[in-house]
Amino acid sequence: MAGILVYALHDDEGNFNKNSLGALSEAAKLAGELGTEAAAVIVGDISDEGAQGLGNYGVTKVYRAKNVTEGLAQPIVDVMAKVITENDISYALFGGGLLGFEIGAGLTARLGAGVTMEVTKVKVDGGKLISERPILQDSQIADVGYVSEPGIIIGRLNAFDIKETGGSAEIVDLDVELSEWSTKAQMITRGEQRGADIDIEAADVLIGGGRGLGSAEGFDGAEALAGAFDNSAVAATRAVVDAGWWPYAGQIGQTGKTVAPKLYLAVGVSGAIQHKVGMQNSENIVAINKDPNAPIFEFSDLGIVGDLNKIMPKLTEALKARKG
Ligand SMILES: Cc1cc2nc3c(=O)[nH]c(=O)nc-3n(C[C@H](O)[C@H](O)[C@H](O)COP(=O)(O)OP(=O)(O)OC[C@H]3O[C@@H](n4cnc5c(N)ncnc54)[C@H](O)[C@@H]3O)c2cc1C
Repeated sequence: MAGILVYALHDDEGNFNKNSLGALSEAAKLAGELGTEAAAVIVGDISDEGAQGLGNYGVTKVYRAKNVTEGLAQPIVDVMAKVITENDISYALFGGGLLGFEIGAGLTARLGAGVTMEVTKVKVDGGKLISERPILQDSQIADVGYVSEPGIIIGRLNAFDIKETGGSAEIVDLDVELSEWSTKAQMITRGEQRGADIDIEAADVLIGGGRGLGSAEGFDGAEALAGAFDNSAVAATRAVVDAGWWPYAGQIGQTGKTVAPKLYLAVGVSGAIQHKVGMQNSENIVAINKDPNAPIFEFSDLGIVGDLNKIMPKLTEALKARKG
């Protein structure tokens, strides 16, 4: 089978990662166009039912290595390298995320493969896969092909949509002998994803908080403003997520989530290109920024120049009063 192999990451309860499910759906679609099949690799203690259930995303086979720990890259490189070489697999696809990057990079080195990272789209051309990768601060797209097999394709977060097709996958259990260096690290504990309960993708109204909020406490005001709307949530720029002011689950942009709410209200956000790519499809964009030359005003429907510490509380009060 000269197919496409996808690594499907799961948490300790056996729930599969959203980006992995998107990659499975994408691989199944591409495999259909290539006239081949898509398969998944899973490690750890996943039940037969859970493994077969990945067929719902279009893969026909699931390679399962029960003796390998989830969450550590090197042992998973061993598993994937074995599956790829023994089954003549042409491409490995990852849905993004730090572990996917790490495994993809390790696999590239192990197999002497070609790799493309931060891929936003994959297409079929002349019976081969071509990866689209934004370059030059996302102002241009490069088409990347592969001169040898396998080709390693690592998607950007949220690049691939999940499509449920129904169906059940065949399980192939593997007994993988790990490389010596793959046994040097041990998983002690896997923490919960920070702020996993923030759902910025489902909100109609998003308050996007930036460094202009000044501190983690500054987000109290953004939360109060969000509370004045129905079906709303608070999102953030990478600068504030990196500073630990807001959880990663709420990050918008190139290395965060892509959103398209009815209203995106940016407070203290400069509008860097890496942020813009994640929110530019919002129906209405309103920005509050004290700098009249802030780039965000270039793609806002309404720009308010001023101090957010004065404007935001008044706006919150006015909205609450209107709601009654
Ligand atoms: C490879 C790479 C990937 C990246 N990925 C992402 C990503 O996914 N998402 C992302 O957001 N960024 C990303 N970045 C970072 C991005 O380049 C910017 O640094 C970041 O978006 C800036 O965040 P910010 O707007 O909060 O901060 P700043 O750029 O510092 O802007 C703060 C703004 O607040 C305004 N301000 C300050 N005080 C007030 C006040 N009192 N009232 C009103 N306005 C005020 C200022 O005028 C300024 O415009 C990435 C960068 C790189 C290199």
